[in-house]
This record gives sequence, C-alpha cells and structure tokens, in this order.
Amino acid sequence: MLHPARSCPACGSHDARPAFVVAGFEHVRCGECDTLFVTPLPSAATIEAHYLAEDYHASAIGQEARMRAEADVRAAIVRDLGCRDILEIGSGPGHFLDAARALGMRIEGAERSPSARGARERGHTIHEAWLQELELEPRFDAVAMWEVLEHLPEPRAALERVRGLLRPGGHLALSTPSSSGLLARLMGARFVMVEPPAHLELFSRRGLERLLTATGFSPLRWTTFSGLRRENLRRGLQRYVLGGSRPAARVAGALAWAAEPAMRVVDRAGLGISFEVYAAAR
Ligand SMILES: [Zn+2]
Repeated sequence: MLHPARSCPACGSHDARPAFVVAGFEHVRCGECDTLFVTPLPSAATIEAHYLAEDYHASAIGQEARMRAEADVRAAIVRDLGCRDILEIGSGPGHFLDAARALGMRIEGAERSPSARGARERGHTIHEAWLQELELEPRFDAVAMWEVLEHLPEPRAALERVRGLLRPGGHLALSTPSSSGLLARLMGARFVMVEPPAHLELFSRRGLERLLTATGFSPLRWTTFSGLRRENLRRGLQRYVLGGSRPAARVAGALAWAAEPAMRVVDRAGLGISFEVYAAAR
C-alpha cells in the first residue's frame, strides 16, 4: 500500500495502490473504496487553463443529437421529482438548460468556459463563475452536475457547497464516469475516461455512495449508461484495438453491430461507462 500525496477524494482513506501513469499523471486506486484518482493533483493553473481553452467542448460537435436526447430524458426525470427551480453547474453549450426550459422549469447555469456563449444568446441566465465562487441563496429545488464531479480537485467540498444551494428537500442530479464498469476494468489505462488532467478521479460505486452519504445526500435512482451507439463503438474498436486499415474497418463495423445490444445489457447490469444518480438532500 502507498500513502499518496492526496487522500481518496471519495472516502478520505490514505491507503492506495499504484494503478498506472498516463501523460505523466500518476493514477492510484483507493485501498478502501476502489476509486481511481490522480495524485498528486496538477496545479490549479494547469486545471483552470484546460477549461478556459476555446476548444474544450469541441469534442462534443457531432454528438449534439445524442446529447439533446439525453438532456430531454434527464430533464423529465428532474421534473418528475417535483423540481421547478434548477441550477446546472457546468452548463456548457446548454442542452440541459434548453431541455429543462422546454418542460416549463426555471433554470440557470454556471459556466466559466467560452462554450456558454450560445446558451446566453438563447436567453439563458448563466453565472460566469466556478462553483466555489457562486454566491447564490439556497433557493434551488435541484442542482444538476452532468460530467462535472470527475473534473474537480475537491469533489467533497464541491458537494457540500451544492448542498448549501438547495432548499430543504432539494435534489442533486449528476453523472460521472465509473471505475467499476466493465470497460474500465478491461481497458485499464486505455479506458476512454482516463483523461488527465481533465479527469482527476473516476469513482467506484462504493466510493461515490460514501461521498454522497457523507455530504448529506441519499440516492433515489442509480443507473449506469455508456452513451455508445454503433458508430462510437466502431470508432473505439478501430482506434484502440484493430487499427485503421480497410479490413479492420469492416471487422470493427461487424463487431460494433454485434456489441451494441451487449452494451445495453452491460448498462442494465450496472457496469456501464458512467453513473447517473438522482439523490435527495437529507
Ligand atoms: Zn476511497
């Protein structure tokens, strides 16, 4: 066991075992809860520069239809929890803002990166602040954080702050990559979500449960998803396994065709790429 520079961001344990090094960033696995995390943390300047880069959300181009469909489903779940006033941390290009507004909810975003421009032009209120800088009354029925937690150097402090922005009886909606999933286990350092210095921790199921409990949240609905369509699977197989030749493309296409239904089974078994959790504040 190691005693890394950073304690486990999920459970606080100081015990960890080495996992791998990617792009010069050391990853370890918590001996207590199995969460995978980067230690030591990159400097604040390294982390911040990454998000303020103009092309931070460029990878999302071409995925818009899928992301909008996903946002519509999530907004309906939040509405069905009885939430009317929502804050989204890390609202990016604003797909969830649009989805929530279309369902009649009041929603504001918080986003520091230039990706917020389009959502502002569509009339959304977007606070240009990091979570720790937001000075808002505890007036929200729900706070949403889609694919945000894994980017934060101090996720526990972040969730405590989120708790303080909620009305009594409020809700938290989040998604974050899982280190407990099938691909995470099979791919190791090549798992698509191992992406330092953007991703600083990949939670295990046990680690995320402990973190939520410790910060005052009780999970109500817990699923995993992989967001993989046949085309993403084909590209992933070519990039990581088969290579770019023409026969490889044909094989990748056939494997992806066969794998798509299998990934749905994996998601239902709780072994997908990311967690999606809806939790009530206690
Ligand atoms: Zn841990």
